[in-house]
Amino acid sequence: MSVASDFRADNFSAGPASLPTAVLERARAELLNWDGRGVSVMEISHRSKPFIEVAARAEQNLRTLMNIPDDYAVLFLQGGASLQFSSVVLNLTQADQSAAYVDTGIWSAKAVKEAKKYLSVNLVASTKEAGYHSVPTQAQIAANLSSDDQFLHYCPNETINGVAFDYVPKADMPLVADFSSVILAEPIQVSDFGVIYAGAQKNVGPAGLTLVIVKRDLLDKARDNCPAVMNYGLQAAADSMLNTPATYSWYLSGLVFEWLIEQGGVDAIAKINHQKSQMLYSAIDSSKLYSNPVAIANRSIMNVPFYLADESLNAEFLRQSEETGLLHLKGHRTVGGMRASIYNAVPLEAVERLVQFMHEFELKHA
Ligand SMILES: *Cc1c(COP(=O)(O)O)cnc(C)c1O
Repeated sequence: MSVASDFRADNFSAGPASLPTAVLERARAELLNWDGRGVSVMEISHRSKPFIEVAARAEQNLRTLMNIPDDYAVLFLQGGASLQFSSVVLNLTQADQSAAYVDTGIWSAKAVKEAKKYLSVNLVASTKEAGYHSVPTQAQIAANLSSDDQFLHYCPNETINGVAFDYVPKADMPLVADFSSVILAEPIQVSDFGVIYAGAQKNVGPAGLTLVIVKRDLLDKARDNCPAVMNYGLQAAADSMLNTPATYSWYLSGLVFEWLIEQGGVDAIAKINHQKSQMLYSAIDSSKLYSNPVAIANRSIMNVPFYLADESLNAEFLRQSEETGLLHLKGHRTVGGMRASIYNAVPLEAVERLVQFMHEFELKHA
């Protein structure tokens, strides 16, 4: 095989992660001379008419893809999902109030840690002691909710632990969800949520952009000391341009939304995502070398951690997989092992090649 300059490896990176090749090709084609204007899109004012059109089209396409009702604002912010750990608290509560949190992995635990700086956290359920291999039941969550809690926060897909909720928790308060690694992966009902947030660099676009989808009746509850750029209401009123937004990430995410619509939308990509993850989990389950510790019902369709029975083979597995063009399979440093992130932009064929490689590796080292 000749490695031309356009060679694209199979990229299983957890984030920043794979982007659709067609999107990168289009971005490259219009990089120097965007829209016939003799400049790139990242070299113009965010307040110029052509950029405002790019921004509005991206929002409209996201609204179409996710079926976002009109009574929700869509914000294109910065600071990553990590800043939202604080933003949701400063926007939805006052200092003397409390909020409920579910801890199902490393990201929800980080959200708890940040929230504790600003309010009292009611930790309604945690699977930490059991190793983060499943999610609590609706009944366990409900039993510990307090009527004083201002919202319920959870993470539908734990990117590091590969643990996903197989249901949407119910509560008599706004539901706040960190969708960073599973937004646009399968259909959801936006009206189930008060706030949905997601860093772009997993399943949407390049790093630097954070999507926040917030019910409009939650826009005017921010604390007086909430920084303006973090204030949902102020950002919504300013079309997310209170200050300079991440214009290139916004543009590129817009191209990803167009690509997703061309693929048939979220329903169509969800079918492929389920095929991909089933193929990989069944390869893991039917082998003697590989294993995945997550309860079957809570296995992520986006992030698939797996462990080799003989850990001394880890380095060899990574070396050979890279040589084969299967990149970034090393598990997160906190949990070890391997992890294949198989976001929307990772094609079915890439997962087929991974499964084939895993099988051959097992035969060689059995
Ligand atoms: C990656 C990730 C984050 C952190 O995102 P940043 O953009 O780096 O702040 C938070 N939550 C989840 C679920 C993630 O996957």
